[in-house]
Amino acid sequence: VFNFAAGPSALPESVLAECAAEMLDYHGCGMSVLEMSHRSSSYQQIFDDAEATLRRIANIPSNYRVLFLQGGATLQFAGIPMNLMVSGRAGYLVTGNFAAKAEREARKYGEVDVLATSEYTGFDRIPEVAGVGELAEATGYDYVYICQNNTIFGTQYHELPQTGEVPLVSDVSSCFLAEPIDVTRYGLVYAGAQKNAGCAGVTVVIVRDDLIENGPALPCCPTYLDYREQAEKGSMLNTPNTFGIYLCGKVYHWIEAAGGLAAMERMNREKSGLIYDYLDQSHLFHGHAQPASRSIANVTFRTGDERLDAAFVDGATQRGLVGVKGHRLVGGMRASVYNAVPIEGVRALVDYMAEFEDEHTK
Ligand code: PLP
Repeated sequence: VFNFAAGPSALPESVLAECAAEMLDYHGCGMSVLEMSHRSSSYQQIFDDAEATLRRIANIPSNYRVLFLQGGATLQFAGIPMNLMVSGRAGYLVTGNFAAKAEREARKYGEVDVLATSEYTGFDRIPEVAGVGELAEATGYDYVYICQNNTIFGTQYHELPQTGEVPLVSDVSSCFLAEPIDVTRYGLVYAGAQKNAGCAGVTVVIVRDDLIENGPALPCCPTYLDYREQAEKGSMLNTPNTFGIYLCGKVYHWIEAAGGLAAMERMNREKSGLIYDYLDQSHLFHGHAQPASRSIANVTFRTGDERLDAAFVDGATQRGLVGVKGHRLVGGMRASVYNAVPIEGVRALVDYMAEFEDEHTK
């Protein structure tokens, strides 16, 4: 099948095949990675290689720490304020469900201002963010928070807000490794790995050294979420998701061998562009996201008729085009065209859209 699910989502077949080949006996160790102690030198090599490969492909400077944590992106909704809210105030840009959840969670730990929202237009766009930097600096926020790609609504920041001296914190769960990233623009950037960056159960947190050198802002921060402690312990404060990190490493090697993040971006623009081009001339299907805010990872669309949408999704599934049902908050359809979704799958989806439109507009 071609899998368009939003996450967990398609993984490169070669990565899965390698995992399968090594499943019973990893490189002659006589055991599976699943059975290895996380304190063993064999496992430490796997871990170090995953981090080093990620640092190469994402060009992560040495003054940023890379953490491989558990608890999903959701746990970081709390981890971020607990670590970074030194003066107790932060600004949030609310562009969708996950940004709203992060903002609500942060309110438990400090004062939160919503600097902009696109809620009133159904989260169909990234709101105007000019002036955020001046406001953030004048108010003295500890950070400004964004969700860079809104998985459910299919919108994405194509330009980051300027936040001046105030660190920008970004949830990149659904656009991490989909295109080149300038890590130096952020104080902290994080992603649940179950889209482009590996598998469910691993969350990658990349944080600038100086933001964590004094330990967490709030004394109530659980030890597990203490970024300084996790960095000092090499993400092995407790037992990490050993197999998940091993798989992440293989995904990073796959990206590197395929030409790195520039190549990913080219492919992702081509794939999402095929669907957007179709939507722009279609009389039946309408895109949810405003053109200037369109995501290169999650393409959301609908017919406007729930029964037709359901028929489209059923027909797609029968053809092996799975995972195209939209999130319940938006309805309609969503095609997630992450790195591992091949262009042939996207062509098959667009062909089916044309066929379906032909059939239902006569
Ligand atoms: N942020 C974004 C942008 C997401 O797409 C998701 C999940 O899909 C989350 C956060 C929540 O991630 P998790 O399920 O890993 O907690």
